[in-house]
Amino acid sequence: MLDTTIAGSLPKPAWLAAPRTLWAPWRLEGAALEEGKRDAVRLALRDQEAAGIDIVTDGEQTRRHFVWGFVEQLEGVDFSKMVTIGIRADRYKAEVPTVAGPLRRRGPIHRDEAQFLRTATGRRIKFTMPGPMTVVDTIHDAYYGSRAKLGLAIASLINEEARELAAVGVDVIQLDEPAFNVYMDEVRDWGIEALNRAVEGLPCRTVVHICYGYGIKANTDWKKTLGGEWRQYEQTFPLLAASRIGGVSLECANSRVPISLLGLLGDKDVLVGAVDVANEEVETPAQVAAVIREALRHVAPSRLFPCTNCGMVPLDRELARAKLHALGAGAALARQELSGPR
Ligand code: ZN
Repeated sequence: MLDTTIAGSLPKPAWLAAPRTLWAPWRLEGAALEEGKRDAVRLALRDQEAAGIDIVTDGEQTRRHFVWGFVEQLEGVDFSKMVTIGIRADRYKAEVPTVAGPLRRRGPIHRDEAQFLRTATGRRIKFTMPGPMTVVDTIHDAYYGSRAKLGLAIASLINEEARELAAVGVDVIQLDEPAFNVYMDEVRDWGIEALNRAVEGLPCRTVVHICYGYGIKANTDWKKTLGGEWRQYEQTFPLLAASRIGGVSLECANSRVPISLLGLLGDKDVLVGAVDVANEEVETPAQVAAVIREALRHVAPSRLFPCTNCGMVPLDRELARAKLHALGAGAALARQELSGPR
């Protein structure tokens, strides 16, 4: 009950990539890079285990960016044609590759990483990939001609990949869809269909992560424009409740999301963000437990998974470690409260 997990990423060691930087280039090459990535995964696992996290990830130590880990391995994507576009409705600029032909997987993308993760920990494992709409929004299309068409094509490739990950023992597959908080009409028009296609026939648990972004300035500035109550989830949750996805990972800690919106998720698993990733302060266990307690008014304990608001890759490493411990300790406190006085 109240099993903990994290949104996905953790900061990388400074010997692997520059700290506190998104899209940071690797500091190693060739065989040393491959070995370095695995060592970083081992450290990410030990940190999560020490903090009492129940469902662990590889901390996304093996990819430069949460979208590129997948996209870099697709045939049809031309990384020699980089284009600067405004992403997430022009909230910030990014240099992205071009879709120049039909997209195909050249072969398994994350299977070896998932296999390594499976052997490197005894805990349940979660593997994250970008969702179809977020990939569409982080790439320049010069072939498909429609975001919906491109999104559905990507969804099929994600599904092929996800089936292989489940087959090597991944317990939870999570698709990251921050774009679901930005393009509300597209979510309704094709986003849910693409999500359904991406998780079709999977034998493991599935989750979609929908957040208000990393704790970087472009996002914190954007949040200030969203008003006193953030109600984006109000539009997507009923659609998700009727979808094939097994659960939703969302932002709660220090956010202006009305907690009652969790009630719109029907019988889905709810990964409640009880740790903020956009501040430098470490939550106390009591603060984490307070968010969980609020969420429990709308979600049954068997379906509630205390989590972080978003990925922690841009944070200081010690800070991220302290926040992991706060999450583990806060969930333990909430569990104690639920089991009542002895
Ligand atoms: Zn996020």
